[in-house]
Amino acid sequence: MAVITQVETCLVDVPCIRPHVLAMATMNVQTLCLVRIRCDDGIQGIGEATTIGGLTYGPEAPESIKLLIDTYFAPILVGQNATRPAVLMASLSRYIVGNHFAKCAIETALLDAQGKRAGLPVSELLGGRVQDRLPVLWTLASGDTAKDIAEAEDMIDQRRHNAFKLKIGKRAIAEDVAHVAAIKRALGDRASVRVDVNMAWDETGAKRGIAMLADAGCDLVEQPIHRSNRTGMARLRAGAAIPIMADEALQGPSTAYEFTVDAAADIFAVKIEQSGGLVAARAVQAIADAAGVALYGGTMLEAAVGTVASAQVFATFPQLAFGTELFGPLLLTEEILATPLDYADFSLGVPTGPGLGVMLDEERVAYLRRDAARKTISIPAKEEA
Ligand SMILES: [Mg+2]
Repeated sequence: MAVITQVETCLVDVPCIRPHVLAMATMNVQTLCLVRIRCDDGIQGIGEATTIGGLTYGPEAPESIKLLIDTYFAPILVGQNATRPAVLMASLSRYIVGNHFAKCAIETALLDAQGKRAGLPVSELLGGRVQDRLPVLWTLASGDTAKDIAEAEDMIDQRRHNAFKLKIGKRAIAEDVAHVAAIKRALGDRASVRVDVNMAWDETGAKRGIAMLADAGCDLVEQPIHRSNRTGMARLRAGAAIPIMADEALQGPSTAYEFTVDAAADIFAVKIEQSGGLVAARAVQAIADAAGVALYGGTMLEAAVGTVASAQVFATFPQLAFGTELFGPLLLTEEILATPLDYADFSLGVPTGPGLGVMLDEERVAYLRRDAARKTISIPAKEEA
């Protein structure tokens, strides 16, 4: 038995390497809510909750996640037996409705601690890994065609990525498709080109857009219409020449089940935060496998901790036909791990150490903390005055 003594949260702001342009937001900074669960056996587990563009993607934001973990999650966890993560997650579900992202951060930290205790990677706690490296695509989201082509060529040359996702939906359909077609023409068979519409189209527009994208050589279309329009997704899928992927619509195992019943997607983008945790993400995978739906490892643009947690889960998937988009840490200017993740040969190596298998660079995290940054900036300014 080991008792949880403290649940600590902090907000960490990390600048992006370039503005990341999505249909609903342009990101210049990524804000993480880092969670540490400390136990009386001296073991500490870490977790991360991160959202895309504050509140523009979903109902949780890093600031609200921090407040809710501090106020509601921590009192339920402190004093409890840390060696029973499933019991603890069940008791959180009993007292806290929804809040999938926050629950995922807590479950990540509990499993990290439990893995360290057992001397096993999180993937082994979840049933065992079948893959040691995961293919990782890159998102081209500068919004500028020539810049995106140059970025893609550079990634192929570096052997870092040979599959690219284009974020579209902000401009007129014809303009977006011309952008995609130009990139596909430039890259040819050297790369897979896919698009994510992030729900920006209505159904009639999507029908037209998907047909044009198929002609342009696009390999798949992610979440073309609103998350609530499942029957529309089913109609689009039935008429499309290229696969349709569900992302925003998948809010855990029950929605995944409904999607399989309605045959509303060819591919599921599995995300640990959106699913409600690592175990829930595995349930989504099991439903997809049972229904013959292909899988893709999605990201909430998490930094290193959430990315590794996702990788530990995806490494256990028997099939992962469309690879992953676990590039979140590569979008950030600052490294928050003591040892950077292993991105090479178009893939990410899944860490093999106990728990998540990574350690934070504590000095760097302390520097990037939102509360610390204020002190760092305001002290020299006062001296100059
Ligand atoms: Mg998406």
